[in-house]
Amino acid sequence: MTIRGVLFDVDDTIFDYSSSEETGLIGHLTAEGLLDAFPSPAEAVAVWRQIMEEEYARCLAGELTFAEQQRVRTRRFLTHAGRLADGGMSDAEAAVWFERYGGHREAAWAAFPDADPVLRKLAPAFRLGVVSNSSLSHQRRKLRRVGLLDHFGEAVLCSLEHGTSKPDPAIFLAGCALLGLPPHQVAYVGDRYDIDALGARAAGLRSYWLDRAATGTAVVDGVTVVHSLDDLALDLIPGN
Ligand SMILES: [Mg+2]
Repeated sequence: MTIRGVLFDVDDTIFDYSSSEETGLIGHLTAEGLLDAFPSPAEAVAVWRQIMEEEYARCLAGELTFAEQQRVRTRRFLTHAGRLADGGMSDAEAAVWFERYGGHREAAWAAFPDADPVLRKLAPAFRLGVVSNSSLSHQRRKLRRVGLLDHFGEAVLCSLEHGTSKPDPAIFLAGCALLGLPPHQVAYVGDRYDIDALGARAAGLRSYWLDRAATGTAVVDGVTVVHSLDDLALDLIPGN
């Protein structure tokens, strides 16, 4: 089966989301005088991530807008830290607090070192695109900032604009359509086994699960495990 296109997840696949989130949060909490509200910086990051997972899922389900989930995360986190003033926090105050966090996080934005070289390697032989559970303006800005956007041209698809999110097959198929290719000619790579690897497989794409931590997790037939984007390039272009 000839693969002619490759679709990428963004966060923690080509873009180092977790590192920028951790560095940004710790920098922000230090600046706000909030770090001592937690037993350790790692605990603060763990709480922030747990709240993010829950509220971002509600955003993807259409219960909260992108901006609302930011404000809800802010209030929940400050409540957990015991630092939410009596009477709560207005929308404007919560938005500004999150914006200050965003400034610290954006200062730490970075692509994974293997992303740009592999995209350059694949570009001559494959049509390249993105399918991400996020907002288009946010992801395009992020990819532009870290120098990856030009690899994808207009083939950047995000769930908030598309209306369904991974692992729904519809968004993978829409990504293939953006590349002008049928799903059996398209590979997908992402770091989440459930939503990326199993979702792409169910939609009929060639599915690669990026397990950067090399966890050794067993996978079902039809999912290929790679530990880096270099592994992906090697599988798609043997001997490159
Ligand atoms: Mg991801």
